[in-house]
This record gives sequence, structure tokens and C-alpha cells, in this order.
Amino acid sequence: MKPFTYARAVDAADAVRLSGAPDARYLGGGTNLVDLMRETIELPAALIDVTGLSSTIEERADGGLLIGAATKNTAVAEHRAVRSRYPALSRAILSGASGQIRNMATVGGNVMQRTRCAYFYDAAGSRCNKRDPGQGCDATDGFNRMHAILGTSPSCAATHASDMCVALAALDAIVHLSRASGERTLPLTDLHRLPGDRPDVETVLEPGELITAVELPALPLAKRSTYRKVRDRASYAFALVSVAAALEVRRGTVADVRLALGGVAPKPWRAWKAEEALRGQPATEESFRAAADVELAEARPLRDNGFKVELARRTITAVLSELNGARA
Ligand SMILES: Cc1cc2nc3c(=O)[nH]c(=O)nc-3n(C[C@H](O)[C@H](O)[C@H](O)COP(=O)(O)OP(=O)(O)OC[C@H]3O[C@@H](n4cnc5c(N)ncnc54)[C@H](O)[C@@H]3O)c2cc1C
Repeated sequence: MKPFTYARAVDAADAVRLSGAPDARYLGGGTNLVDLMRETIELPAALIDVTGLSSTIEERADGGLLIGAATKNTAVAEHRAVRSRYPALSRAILSGASGQIRNMATVGGNVMQRTRCAYFYDAAGSRCNKRDPGQGCDATDGFNRMHAILGTSPSCAATHASDMCVALAALDAIVHLSRASGERTLPLTDLHRLPGDRPDVETVLEPGELITAVELPALPLAKRSTYRKVRDRASYAFALVSVAAALEVRRGTVADVRLALGGVAPKPWRAWKAEEALRGQPATEESFRAAADVELAEARPLRDNGFKVELARRTITAVLSELNGARA
């Protein structure tokens, strides 16, 4: 590991000011960043500890929530209002990593965590356009069973690893940001970029821009939301496919729906096309499968991950059927 300086930010303005140092990085729980430093994939000259920033979950009068970026993943998953009003978020977080990691990991760090593509981590032996732009990608012709089927480019097919972000994408979450020129908000679905020919640029954040909070707008149908993660073993594994969904059915017809996918794309994948195809349709397994087909029509599997198309179709159909059966 290269030497680095360490400073603990007292508030968001202090963090943004400190981030002006060359090669500075924010440090949340460190559960991803420190591993990347050990592997010499990230070599920051300065670490700005942002765990002292807001870690409260504020309940808004309209029923929405404002979650401080330093809130631990465990605290979000266990919060009474999250469990009752946004159960998909609680389930998504609890399906990720381990209890110990969730106790350390922060909301801001989870949103900004980097891919788990094995070729990205293999700095000594593999080519990776995300790690070294222009170098090439050994995943394309390599072992790509875990890789993305939607939103990929010839440069990169690495998936976004976060479970939490898939639920946030489905629940219309808004990210609150702070930078030298002021504050702004963005829908979470607009924060992460698709790789195109610059897979190293993963978000639309400016250098030094800080996540200060994640807002969950009031969303009555989110009460009936869930998250299902399909993976190789029951715990401590990243998603092959995951689905976050919320469903409102009136008199047998889909009145409203939210749907997002994980494990299949370089960013948390909001299934806008499937949602559009479903609204106003009969709430039946046939409609759910047809909507999944609309979303997956543009899937471009690699050699080893074609199974994800059928797995995603079945998981979407099963999750929506489960939510439909649960209404009463
Ligand atoms: C063994 C293992 C298994 C895992 N399994 C899963 C899993 O199944 N599902 C899953 O979703 N995740 C999984 N994870 C990933 C885990 O969720 C992340 O490591 C964690 O959420 C990162 O949070 P952190 O606070 O520790 O981030 P850090 O490691 O501190 O930071 C991560 C990145 O975010 C940036 N950052 C931190 N805070 C901010 C901020 N406020 N604003 C802007 N940028 C910021 C940092 O600069 C860094 O680039 C696993 C991790 C490990 C080690």
C-alpha cells in the first residue's frame, strides 16, 4: 500500500473542502475501498473519513425518509419505518455481504462500491478497461458466468454489485449531493453510468462530489414491495440475478408497479420497459412473463451467462406473482 494521509471530516462542507487534495478518496466503512487499496487497484494519496457525517434516518411528514450517507447498512435494514414502508430495501440489504460487513458499511459507500469482476481485481494478471482504460477486457472471452447481459459494451460487461441499490432504484430513491459549487439532487437511477467506451467512469459525480443522504420519497405501493436474490449459495454471495419490485393491483388490473434488476447490468437496472408494459394489464402470470420478455429483449449474453436471461425472466415472474398473491 502506498503512504496516504488521513483526515476526519466534521461536516459535509469540510469533507468537500478536504477532497480538493490530489488523489483524495472518501472513506466510509472501508469494506470495499481498503480491499482495493491492498490490491493496489486504488492508490489514494489522501483518505477523508466521512463516517462522522449524518447517520440519522429522518421521517418526513409525508411518510418519506431521509437517510444520512454515514448510516450503517444494518441500521437502515433494521429501522422500523424502512421495514414497514419499504420492506424491499430492508430485504435487499440483509441479503448482502455478512452481518459484520453490514455493521461497518455505510449508505454512501454502498452506493459507490465498485464491481466484483474477478478480472478487475486481478491487477497482476488480467487486462481490464475499468482498471486501466484502453487495456482491453479479459472477461469478454474469459470466464463470464457472473457478468452482465444488459447495458454492456465491448469494453466492459462487469456488473454493479450492490443489492441495496437495486431496491433504491425500484423505490424511486433520490441521492443528495454536495460539491464545491453547491448542493444538488439526482434520481439514483441517473447516478451510475453505463460503460460505453469509458468503463472507468462509473457515475456522473464530479471529482470530490459527496453523497450526503439518500431520500426515499413517500410511495404507498412500496409497503407491498419485496426483494429476491438468486445466487450460488444461500449467504455471502453476489447475485446472479436479483429483483426488487412493488405492485399495486386494483380489480385484477396492474394499477402501478416498480421493478428493478440486479446482477444483470453494469448499474442498478430499473426495468422501465417492463413497468410500462405492465400498467393497465391483467395481473396474471402471463402478463408478468410478457413484461419480463419486453425488458429482456435487448439482453446480449456472453459465452457463459446466457442462463441469466431465463433466470431473470423466471425471477421477475415469480416475484410479481408473489406480490400479487400477497395482496388482500
Ligand atoms: C466479502 C464481501 C462480500 C460482500 N457481499 C456483498 C453482497 O452480497 N451484496 C452487496 O450489495 N454488497 C456486498 N459487499 C460489498 C459491501 O456492501 C460494500 O463493501 C459496502 O457497502 C461499501 O460500504 P463502505 O461504507 O464500507 O464503503 P467504502 O469501502 O468506505 O467506500 C466505497 C467507495 O465509496 C466511496 N464513498 C464512501 N462514502 C462516500 C460518500 N458519502 N460520498 C461519495 N463517495 C463515497 C469511497 O470513496 C469508495 O470509492 C461485500 C463486501 C465484501 C468485502
